Amino acid sequence: MKLRVDRITDESTESTFSVPADELNQRLETGATHEFRLAAPLEVDVRYYRAGDEIYFDGSCSTVMEGTCARCLETFSLPLDAPFEFVLTHAPKLESAQELHTDDLALSFYEGDEIDLGPLVGEQAILALPTRAVCREDCKGLCPSCGTNLNDETCACKPAPADPRFAVLANARVRSAS
Ligand SMILES: [Zn+2]
Ligand SMILES: [Zn+2]
Repeated sequence: MKLRVDRITDESTESTFSVPADELNQRLETGATHEFRLAAPLEVDVRYYRAGDEIYFDGSCSTVMEGTCARCLETFSLPLDAPFEFVLTHAPKLESAQELHTDDLALSFYEGDEIDLGPLVGEQAILALPTRAVCREDCKGLCPSCGTNLNDETCACKPAPADPRFAVLANARVRSAS
């Protein structure tokens, strides 16, 4: 969804649009959050208005994410509903850009006379993702010995820390290391 900058007025305008899942999945695959992909398009509700040189955006975006659990490797679905707000201003000349610490502000720049909202809101959705993909907080994960999914069944393997002989060995190793 592209906005012509010269058509944005000081009157708040509301708009809804959706970003195709593929478009954001390409970014997720190359980024740090590759445990997640979108299973549905990103639905966006946005309001925007101009105040001087700055254009204010706020709204919410929602979709259904599909994650791969870091512990049990099962896929799980995660409804995502994220509010967002950000401010855009026209890219400044170089000297003043160096004075601005844009990392500290929810302030970004646009160039040219159009603003492409899809990637900007997509970025907000990606920021709202949990840092670690787990299917549930108490996921027991896979048995390190036989690979059984311990959420579904138990296996015959003895968990290593419960065996006192291993604890003694571990202590001995710590002592000899120091
Ligand atoms: Zn899990
Ligand atoms: Zn096992």
